Amino acid sequence: MQESPSEMNGMVVTRTTLRDLKRDYFLARSGGSEELLMEPYCWCGSALEQDYFCTECNHKCRVTMIACADARALSIAQALVRTNADFHKFEAATLGA
Ligand SMILES: [Zn+2]
Ligand SMILES: [Zn+2]
Repeated sequence: MQESPSEMNGMVVTRTTLRDLKRDYFLARSGGSEELLMEPYCWCGSALEQDYFCTECNHKCRVTMIACADARALSIAQALVRTNADFHKFEAATLGA
């Protein structure tokens, strides 16, 4: 599939950006081969349990962002957003320092 350079690079978010935007997110890393390891976080920085309820903010988080820690994770996440109906409302971004 052809991608423009801007789509390839995508946007860059930082934990500060995510907090300012109040965006709950998955922290994504690439595992072996094409595997994507995703851990849910609240925008406040708390790691979330299975129920996605943040006890710090007292709200149920709605994760719509995949913040990718490495380039391979980003390319897997971008493919997921494009091709997987469960992820079509998500945005994939590079997690900056
Ligand atoms: Zn939250
Ligand atoms: Zn929170």
